[in-house]
Amino acid sequence: PLVKDVMSGNIETVDVTKSVVDAAKIMRKNERNHLPVVADKKLAGIITSWDISKAVSENHLGTIEACMTKNVVTCGPNDLVDTAAKKMAENHISAMPVIDENRNVVGLITSEHISQLFSRGR
Ligand code: SAM
Repeated sequence: PLVKDVMSGNIETVDVTKSVVDAAKIMRKNERNHLPVVADKKLAGIITSWDISKAVSENHLGTIEACMTKNVVTCGPNDLVDTAAKKMAENHISAMPVIDENRNVVGLITSEHISQLFSRGR
């Protein structure tokens, strides 16, 4: 299967100019731990519940830009799920934004999507 067959499409993103509290609210509403950050609609980073916990524990809730990871590991909708799974394992991450050739976010693939494949018997 391909990434586009298992990913969540139509996912919410947050603009880099919003606050960390805004990001936390979106994550809570969507029941997700990973939120892609965009600047001019293009992928600019990722913020996770871990990043927000770090900011809270260090007692400085700054901007999204200060909390997010800028060097985002991504994949494309037409990549093989196997390739995506390896990439996540190698980078010790549990989700990747799925982007098109213009860095527009088209979805999110998580380790949950991949474990669901196994439970269905691929
Ligand atoms: N590397 C951190 C450290 O040693 O302090 C701890 C890792 S923390 C458990 C997970 C980190 O991975 C978060 O900061 C998050 O933003 C980042 N992350 C999650 N998904 C990512 C992705 N697809 N690409 C790059 N970083 C990602």
